[in-house]
Amino acid sequence: MAINVALDGPSGAGKSTIAKLASKKLGFVYVDTGAMYRTVAYYIASNGFDPKDTQRVVSELDNITIELKYIDGEQAVLLNGENVSDRIRTPEISMAASSVSAIPQVREFLLETQRSIARENNIIMDGRDIGTVVLPNAQVKIFLTASAEIRAQRRFKELSEKGDPSTYEQVLADINERDYNDTHRETAPLKKAPDAVEIDSSFMTIEQVAERIAELAEKAVSENASASEAAKKKSAAAEKKQRTLMPINPIKKGKRINPMRQGFYNLARPFVRFIFTHWFELTYEGVENVPRDGGNIFASNHRSYGDPVFIALMTRVPISYMAKEELFKQNIFFTLLIKAWGAFPVVRGTGDTAVIDTSVEKLNSGRNLVIFPEGTRSKDGRVGKGKTGVALIAAVAQTTVVPVGISFEGEKLCRRKRVVVRYGKPIIPAELGVTDTSTKNLKLLKKSIMDSITSLVN
Ligand code: C5P
Repeated sequence: MAINVALDGPSGAGKSTIAKLASKKLGFVYVDTGAMYRTVAYYIASNGFDPKDTQRVVSELDNITIELKYIDGEQAVLLNGENVSDRIRTPEISMAASSVSAIPQVREFLLETQRSIARENNIIMDGRDIGTVVLPNAQVKIFLTASAEIRAQRRFKELSEKGDPSTYEQVLADINERDYNDTHRETAPLKKAPDAVEIDSSFMTIEQVAERIAELAEKAVSENASASEAAKKKSAAAEKKQRTLMPINPIKKGKRINPMRQGFYNLARPFVRFIFTHWFELTYEGVENVPRDGGNIFASNHRSYGDPVFIALMTRVPISYMAKEELFKQNIFFTLLIKAWGAFPVVRGTGDTAVIDTSVEKLNSGRNLVIFPEGTRSKDGRVGKGKTGVALIAAVAQTTVVPVGISFEGEKLCRRKRVVVRYGKPIIPAELGVTDTSTKNLKLLKKSIMDSITSLVN
């Protein structure tokens, strides 16, 4: 989340100088909203209109486009594409800005631009109504004041240095008038937000004030970081809890699958077996461990794309297996082939529940389910670490898991490769005492499955 520092206060309190310095220290973007009001005022005045003529000002808004650009870290304000940053800093424009800023439609006109910058960036935004209206949820709010005389002295010095002929008395009178306008207007008057920290800069240096603001902002940054860390931990804990609380949903064994499908499978299987046993040197062991019915899980190590076929060639009931979604986006022929062989897509990282529901559904439809608990293929044949998903599905469905070990030498499956497929003794969750999905039970079941696969591969 972006960190927002709202800096409000009367004219001449030193907001912009201080905000610039503090934002440099923090690496934040400085947004000077006064410049936006000045730009509207500049457009009105330079076109010969009266800034107090509300109707005229409002009707001209459609002709005004204001953009903030950052050139070498400095804010520049563009009026209809033209950089007017220097031209808006005269006493006349200050007074005109004070007038146009009292018009509600002008404030409304600038509001969304101000808010959208604050949504996307860590910012220090200065103005009159930032903490109260523009960014009421800003993490840090400062109300910067100084006595009118001190502010007038500072402004007078600044103007004289620029060669402006105004006297100190004129500057003080202007400041008093702008203070009066800003605090007495009906819409968004200048006032301290209840949760703002008040800083009186009358007897402080610019450096001291900027340092104080930077400290407050840094505190907000670190609080924000620990809050998002805490939120992450909380959601991880909730996810874990959800996992341990998955309801048991035993599958209905003995369900027969659609006869058309079974018929197609009965015809296709000997044909595919003929091709596979001749193409590779394929041998099977432990075939007596393959259940004759459906609704079982076959948990196997993963060596090649041929694995689902190798496993299924000895099962009388068609299989289903999870395949990463990307595989369904290759060519249409491949997609049809893997679909016909029972693949269903898994979008990785969508969370356990959806995959588990689909898996249990497949088991319930009478199919066997092939799972590769390692999640990815092993190139060197070593069995990697298993994921808990297999144990979770077996525990939820309370169904038999047949461990399978597939072995061949080398990395790639190729013609005439000697491939050994071994089916191990079926593992029944209830026999291990796994009757719920507690973390402890899932670990136990997973270990039993992975140990068995490893011994079949070796
Ligand atoms: O801050 P600065 O002096 O540049 O602002 C010019 C004028 O714009 C102020 O006198 C004030 O009336 C108006 N303003 C405002 N609300 C803001 C910023 C400036 O009304 N957020």
